[in-house]
Amino acid sequence: MKKQFRAIMFGPPGAGKGTQSKVISDWLQIPHISTGAILRQEMADSTEMGKLAQEFVNKGELVPDKVLIGMMKTSLDTSKCPHGWILDGFPRTLPQAQFLDTLLTDLDQEVNVALFLNVSTSLVVERLLKRADLEGRADDNEETIRNRLSVYEHQTLPVLKYYGEKGVLITVDGSRSLDEVTNDVKEAFEKAPPPL
Ligand code: AMP
Repeated sequence: MKKQFRAIMFGPPGAGKGTQSKVISDWLQIPHISTGAILRQEMADSTEMGKLAQEFVNKGELVPDKVLIGMMKTSLDTSKCPHGWILDGFPRTLPQAQFLDTLLTDLDQEVNVALFLNVSTSLVVERLLKRADLEGRADDNEETIRNRLSVYEHQTLPVLKYYGEKGVLITVDGSRSLDEVTNDVKEAFEKAPPPL
C-alpha cells in the first residue's frame, strides 16, 4: 500500500511553505491545503467567510479559530485525501493544533511530519517585500509584514513546541536555494515514520 503522509509545513510567513508544499504535493500526489489560499479565494468571491476574514487578513491578524476549524473539517474529508495531505498555514494557534488532534483521533489518524522551515526574520522580510512586487498580495506591505511576524512569534511559535513534544518535528534550513531546501524536505518525508 502507498505510504500515507499527514504533514504540516511550518514556519514564518515568507519561509517558503507554499512553494515547498506545492513541490511535495506534486511529488507525493497528495493535496496541498493552504488556509491562506482558501481565505484569499473566499475573499475574491466575496463569500460570507471571505467578508468576515478580510479585515483580519488585510491587517496581518489571525482569522478567528472558529472560522478555520469549520474550514478544516471540510478540507480534511478523508474520502478526498486517501493518501493524506500537506497542510500549509494550519495550525497557527495551539487551539487549532488541539482541534486538529481531536479531529484526527476521531478518524484514527495522526500527523506524521511537522516540517519547520527555519528562516531568519531579516530574510523573510526581504523575501516578502520582493513577493509584494511580484504578486501584489494586499498583506505583503511592510507594516502588515511586521505585524504578521509578531503574530507568528506570539501565537504560532508555541505550536512548534507542541509538535516537538510529539516527536514528529523536523527542522530544515529554509534560507538556502529552492532546490537545496527541496532536497532536504524530500529526504525528511522519505525518513518519516508511517502514520497511524
Ligand atoms: P498565508 O497565506 O498562510 O500567509 O495566510 C495569509 C493570512 O490568512 C494570514 O495572515 C491570516 O490572516 C490568514 N490565515 C491563514 N491561515 C490561518 C490560520 N490557520 N489561522 C488564522 N488565520 C489564518
